[in-house]
Amino acid sequence: MGPTLVIPLNHIFSFLQVDPVPSTSHRHDIVIHPPSFGVPWPTTFPAARQCRYWKLAILACEELVRDMRALRTQTNKRLPDWFSQSNAADPTSNHKERLLVDTSVSAAIYMAPNSAPERIQIIAQLFLLLWTHDVVDSIMQDLLSLSRKEKPGATLEMVPSLTFGSELLDDCHGLLRVVLAHFCTWVCFTREQQRTNFGDLRDYLDYRASDIAADTVSSCVRWGNRLDLQTAELASVQEVVNLAMDHIILVNDLFSFNREKNAAVEEGALFLNAVHYLEGVLGVHSPLAKDLTMQLVWDFESKVTAKIRHLRQCDRQYSAQWRYLDAMVEAAAGNLFFSLTSVRYGAKRHD
Ligand SMILES: [Mg+2]
Repeated sequence: MGPTLVIPLNHIFSFLQVDPVPSTSHRHDIVIHPPSFGVPWPTTFPAARQCRYWKLAILACEELVRDMRALRTQTNKRLPDWFSQSNAADPTSNHKERLLVDTSVSAAIYMAPNSAPERIQIIAQLFLLLWTHDVVDSIMQDLLSLSRKEKPGATLEMVPSLTFGSELLDDCHGLLRVVLAHFCTWVCFTREQQRTNFGDLRDYLDYRASDIAADTVSSCVRWGNRLDLQTAELASVQEVVNLAMDHIILVNDLFSFNREKNAAVEEGALFLNAVHYLEGVLGVHSPLAKDLTMQLVWDFESKVTAKIRHLRQCDRQYSAQWRYLDAMVEAAAGNLFFSLTSVRYGAKRHD
């Protein structure tokens, strides 16, 4: 990667570094200054944020892993080979299960930092299912029924750690049902033949948005923040939400490039990655393609800045839409911190 630029902090993003007032109950997060952990921070985001309830999220994901093992025994469901064969209570006994739990929890607590305890647990569990969707078949019908309001809130019979209380399901006009509907749509997408050719970068990013479960992630961000937005309100900010998602995709691709390249070479895995795409269309080597990807990340940050500034000039009243855009910036900043520190992507852990 090229030299780290000195980038002036942008005040549109300054809320990221504001410490929550301890007495307020509507904030559930703390500020993280990555350089203080020795993490390089090549961005105009002045900080990232982290949900306070990471221990609860870990417990919820560990329970889910135990349920998935039990599900295999009950239904002969095939799990990835690395899932523990034993029913040991402690998922930490298996390195890859531990990694799955840590990765899911990190992504959730950094990308949806302002989520109350009962919400961050479900978000972390859904993120875990995004990484192990092979096992979702057994519970798809239940998830679909919940999303279609055909079923009241319930604990899923086959996976007791997944509990969707009716209070949570009906809150914000059923926003959690919207999250589950997006999740099911994504599972169906993963069952389709994957594309490998793209007309241009926009075409690639649009396809990758489906692949990365963009609608599931952005609806989780709204649900975590209890943002009950109507269709017209959503439409008015969708462009900025999409820009934040482009940022999330490019950052994810940039920092997982080496791991994914190895998987493509050694296992023939599908190589859906922006750096790889740019290498191919421009006929350049990966160092330049990585530099270009980083430049694109900064370009998307300046576009988000300009769009948010414009929207605020048009509508000066602080609203749920404002908060949604801030929450998507939190998600993008959190995704960058997650990508830079995730063991999954080859970085060292910062405990
Ligand atoms: Mg990736």
